[in-house]
Amino acid sequence: MSRTVKKFDSADIDSMLTELRFPAIRESWRIHAERSDSEGWPAAQLIAVLAEDELAGRKERRISRNIVESELLPGKTLDTFDFKLVPMVSKAQVMAMSLGDDWIRTGSNLALFGPPGVGKSHLACAIGRSLVDHGYRVLFVRTTKIVQKLQLAMQGLSLESALRKLDKYHLLILDDFAYGHRDRDECSVLLELIGYRYENRSLMITSNKPYSSWEEVFPDKTTALSAVDRFDHHATRFEMNVESYRRRKSSGKSDAGK
Ligand code: ADP
Ligand code: MG
Repeated sequence: MSRTVKKFDSADIDSMLTELRFPAIRESWRIHAERSDSEGWPAAQLIAVLAEDELAGRKERRISRNIVESELLPGKTLDTFDFKLVPMVSKAQVMAMSLGDDWIRTGSNLALFGPPGVGKSHLACAIGRSLVDHGYRVLFVRTTKIVQKLQLAMQGLSLESALRKLDKYHLLILDDFAYGHRDRDECSVLLELIGYRYENRSLMITSNKPYSSWEEVFPDKTTALSAVDRFDHHATRFEMNVESYRRRKSSGKSDAGK
């Protein structure tokens, strides 16, 4: 069936692309069309180039949205993290994990241990940001805050749906996981969270206290062991036992070894 070819001008094309919500093609079609005319591209080539632009634009916009949604601390990236200050952490391993793949696909976990100020939150955000840049969805949250939210959900009998909503995040970063003392109700939602994501979606925690001291945080030994067991079954651990970054800076030791 033949169809009469209507004559379109640039403004018609722009308005159709706007209506279709193809902003990237709207931006670039003139340049590509000109090149296509002057180089004599087959029509399919022009269509492919335009489609590629739109897909790239969409990916970029999705990543920008995911960065905002992630609540990662701004500026805490791999570029600004000085690996020399934590020699026990393998930069190569961190770089590999920052690409995602296997550990994210299998819902494995990561724990960053060390005293205050050694860069746990910075490194957690840096890995998280790289994952977002590679197309994953990440949420960074203080553990106390998410515990409160989940407790409210539990009181409203909607804990299951609150946990399901978090499934959209390939990685949930729980900052200051073992902090202060958590009562029985708080621990119960944390255990639910760990159990819900087990072997499905990854968790990363930062903690000033190693597993061996979780008994001080959890109401009893059984709960502490249960949390460690579920979390650590498929987990990588980075022990960052160095002096606080700020203390090093103020004593002028940060350049040591450079
Ligand atoms: P923690 O979470 O272990 O208490 P933070 O990540 O909050 O420590 O680090 C404290 C401050 O020191 C932050 O401003 C962080 O950016 C900085 N910092 C810590 N370690 C490093 C590092 N190795 N390279 C660059 N900055 C660091
Ligand atoms: Mg911290």
